[in-house]
Amino acid sequence: MPCYVKHTKNGNTFLSGKLGPHCADCSWVSGYLCDYPVGKGKTCDRPLCEDHANEIAPDIHYCTAHYREWEEFRSSGGVEKELKNVIPFVKK
Ligand SMILES: [Zn+2]
Ligand SMILES: [Zn+2]
Repeated sequence: MPCYVKHTKNGNTFLSGKLGPHCADCSWVSGYLCDYPVGKGKTCDRPLCEDHANEIAPDIHYCTAHYREWEEFRSSGGVEKELKNVIPFVKK
């Protein structure tokens, strides 16, 4: 039986059972997958728990590393370019 561990300020919470993959950043149950586009219609798909999934839009979650990239992309004016180009991350 897989065992899931969540560290909280009050101690650790344990869960066991067939609850799917663990979060890639901790040992908790992953309720989300990273939706960051990595090309060819694929997404990062890193399993994430509710603490490590960064929601950037309704139902769109990014892992911590990709969330940082997204933040940089957005703060460099990337969103505007993205909307004009339709397909993001094609031109380097
Ligand atoms: Zn986690
Ligand atoms: Zn990711």
